[in-house]
Amino acid sequence: TDEVGEDHTSTQLTLKAGGYVPKDISVDPTIACDHARYACSTIKKRFDRFYCEYDSEMDDGFHKRQYIITHVNDAVKNGYIKVYYQPVVLAEDRSLCGVEALARWNDPNYGFLSPGDFIPALEEYRLIQRLDRAILEQVCKDLQAAISTGKKIVPVSVNFSRLDFEMTDVKEMIRDLTERYNVPADHIHVEITESALTVNDENLKDTVALIKNMGIQLWLDDFGSGYSSLNVLKDYTFDVMKIDMVFLRRFKENEKKSKSILNSIVTMANLIDMETLSEGVETEEQAEFLKEIGCKRLQGYLFGKPMPIEELSEKFCCF
Ligand code: C2E
Ligand code: CA
Ligand code: CA
Repeated sequence: TDEVGEDHTSTQLTLKAGGYVPKDISVDPTIACDHARYACSTIKKRFDRFYCEYDSEMDDGFHKRQYIITHVNDAVKNGYIKVYYQPVVLAEDRSLCGVEALARWNDPNYGFLSPGDFIPALEEYRLIQRLDRAILEQVCKDLQAAISTGKKIVPVSVNFSRLDFEMTDVKEMIRDLTERYNVPADHIHVEITESALTVNDENLKDTVALIKNMGIQLWLDDFGSGYSSLNVLKDYTFDVMKIDMVFLRRFKENEKKSKSILNSIVTMANLIDMETLSEGVETEEQAEFLKEIGCKRLQGYLFGKPMPIEELSEKFCCF
């Protein structure tokens, strides 16, 4: 018990372990540890498992991950990682009001690598900040090129991982790149997922506040996915809440419930002065319903998949 009388004795830590049994003594210990670490990473999101041993079925995934972490620098340098842009529209009239920058890695040797593979691998090996800096730099270059040729532009939202905030000074990264490419700060929005903010971290709170002071909007990504803590809404000030696409999955099957939940989320967000954006909008019916309940922005395949800048420029007459 501390001075204010709070009981801290019940804090629990979860320990997870991975194992690897080498075939023979010749196996390099570093590689053996990597195998064990990989086995452990496969149970990261399993709440019923605490130990996992490497088996040959994990070979493909293991080699892919090794490839990612050993080639990310080259991929950034050689331009194998590109920014795709996905349109965000206003529910009201479906006009383009922004785009989200999403990383695409098309490797000449490995082929297409999905963000679902490389983002978690880069996070685990603490390399994600290299990718995120490269994405932000490309976004700034694209904005600068569009501004200088007088094309119409819209703000770009960029994804940041929690680790970016631990490994680098995100505020300085944004300041440096926006100044270097003469991009107005309000043309960049920072997306952070809810899960990144659940740990009580004063440092992160300060950084986020400083970023907002620069005139950059803060967007809460993936609201409602995973293990949301509504406290996050109390502790941080977000401009926009991005409602996770899980709420629109099987919309028709559970129509009444889906609608009530979405309605409550939008109402709550409005009550605390947050704008809402619904992700994963795929049908007309979903778009109409979201507009009816006052969700202001929409994003999803109905309006456009993530696309290269040339395609965005052609379809939306901007950039
Ligand atoms: P996210 O930020 O939630 O991005 C939305 C994901 O949903 C994207 O997948 C997008 O292609 C997909 N999506 C968009 N509309 C629809 C739809 O109507 N239906 C369906 N089924 N899917 C839709 P993607 O590009 O594969 O990205 C996956 C995740 O990887 C992103 O989720 C984000 O968390 C992460 N990510 C992507 N690029 C970056 C990056 O540059 N930096 C960081 N830190 N994370 C990134
Ligand atoms: Ca996002
Ligand atoms: Ca999202």
